[in-house]
Amino acid sequence: MNIYKIVLQLFVLVFFLLSCNNSVDKPKLETQKINFGIVIHGGAGNMTKDNFSEIQILEYINKLNEALETGYSILENGESSIDAVEQTIIIMENSPLFNAGKGAVFTANGINELDAAIMDGSSLNAGSVAGITTVKNPIKLARAIMEKSEHVMMVGKGAEIFAKKTDLEIVDPSYFRTDARWESLQKTIKNEKEKNISALNSNVDNKFGTVGCVALDKNGNLAAGTSTGGMTNKKYGRVGDVPIIGAGTYANNNTAALSATGHGEFFIRNVVAHDISALIEYKNMSLENAANEVIMKKLAKQKGDGGVIGIDKQANITLTFNTTGMFRGFKTSDGKSEVKIFGN
Ligand code: ASP
Repeated sequence: MNIYKIVLQLFVLVFFLLSCNNSVDKPKLETQKINFGIVIHGGAGNMTKDNFSEIQILEYINKLNEALETGYSILENGESSIDAVEQTIIIMENSPLFNAGKGAVFTANGINELDAAIMDGSSLNAGSVAGITTVKNPIKLARAIMEKSEHVMMVGKGAEIFAKKTDLEIVDPSYFRTDARWESLQKTIKNEKEKNISALNSNVDNKFGTVGCVALDKNGNLAAGTSTGGMTNKKYGRVGDVPIIGAGTYANNNTAALSATGHGEFFIRNVVAHDISALIEYKNMSLENAANEVIMKKLAKQKGDGGVIGIDKQANITLTFNTTGMFRGFKTSDGKSEVKIFGN
């Protein structure tokens, strides 16, 4: 009889403990739902479907999807947003479709000068590089500058010496050349002469293709990166907004990760990425409203063409542009995903 009593008491005790455990665990699981996500762009511009053949559109969509999936699976595996941003951008730098790495636009001197930046929102650490001609993946060099040097920004020959020192792949400058970008340079030069306007204001369809990526990882860390050849026919060692931290690239865990594309001079003057971050930080604006305020109101008024992608700590995203198109895509852990080129 005693044995039965003891067994019964034990049974009641185990049942009690199990139900306590459950009631503690359940709400914990709900509040621990982890959000993560990635947003990419491949440049903004006043482009329409007529600028592209069906095959070209398909090529862009496929490459954007490949980049997006690469970054998303890194995040899904629990790796860092910095890794996701770097690897995603490498896919686009290696593709001749975009104005970054292979396929970059030409300067007035007929060479490809590349700019890139990366930023870690958890530490505000950043690395950027401008005017390089021989480093296969400028985004890797930006990351090496962030992690392996005490500096934030390096340019030209010095940056290339540092790239060799950190064992990055060096290529002959001709690696970056594509016939399409060469033809664009010739068209732009002709257009400039005929219409007597600056290349930066010319409407030749050669200005698209800067690439960018922002991501939020499972640990709640934000990161942003951008890479570009700049603008066709750029002169005198011109550097755009991309490698200027706060202009074309910015990430802060307290606000958002942002990567811009467009007419760089406007993005520098308006310190666009940081301006959006500041509106979130000091005015408590949502990411979407802040991006809207800067891109659709402030920049549009100045005729500063371009757009921005962003993601915040809750995996809210924005893809905002005041042009007719932007190569873009996103994928978030709530199951939403999209890749688009034209319209809104
Ligand atoms: N923002 C880049 C630059 O001015 C160009 C672009 O995004 O298309 O260098």
